[in-house]
Amino acid sequence: MFLTYASPVGNYFKQDKTPLSLYVEEEEVRAFSGGVGGVKSVSNYGPVLKALVRAKSLGFSDVLYLDSVNKKYLEEVSAANIFTLKGNVISTPPTSGTILPGITRKSIIEIARGLGFQVEERSISVHELTEADEVFCTGTAVGVAAVGSVTYRGTRFEFKVGENTVCQALGTTLVGIQTGLIEDKKEWIINIH
Ligand SMILES: *Cc1c(COP(=O)(O)O)cnc(C)c1O
Repeated sequence: MFLTYASPVGNYFKQDKTPLSLYVEEEEVRAFSGGVGGVKSVSNYGPVLKALVRAKSLGFSDVLYLDSVNKKYLEEVSAANIFTLKGNVISTPPTSGTILPGITRKSIIEIARGLGFQVEERSISVHELTEADEVFCTGTAVGVAAVGSVTYRGTRFEFKVGENTVCQALGTTLVGIQTGLIEDKKEWIINIH
């Protein structure tokens, strides 16, 4: 049986508009090449629950996972994709099998290109966080969520949040298209009669 249902849902993070504080996980990896990290399978969430609980107990909003081979490149957050902004360039890790190819990620890439940003899907070293202007996460449950800080090996890197950020512009555009406030030129909206 194939069942589709619709249900209203609140933001995955309880503090809706508060910027996220992420903790870079170095012990546990979320997914590995040849595994099932690229699909939305329940098997991807159980194994990293310990890391998530640990990060939350330390006061962080979520975990930022690194790649399993080098433990150096950004992968994604527990249930959201990650983006960085530097100048006019927006970067996000490639969907090469170990991250979930989110529909929000895909939509934001298109919206950002439409707004004139250069979008690169490439490996992002954790060290690049030292120079990012903004960092944000995307997902159905989080929308486009600003990341206020990422903590890596005891160092907390902070990023621009709030009004007049690229993160906010992208989020407003996405919600605008979803709610009909902004004209949908991409045929994303399907009217059901
Ligand atoms: C759901 C999810 C995302 C976001 O995917 P969307 O299709 O944008 O909702 C990203 N990463 C993981 C691990 C997820 O479970």
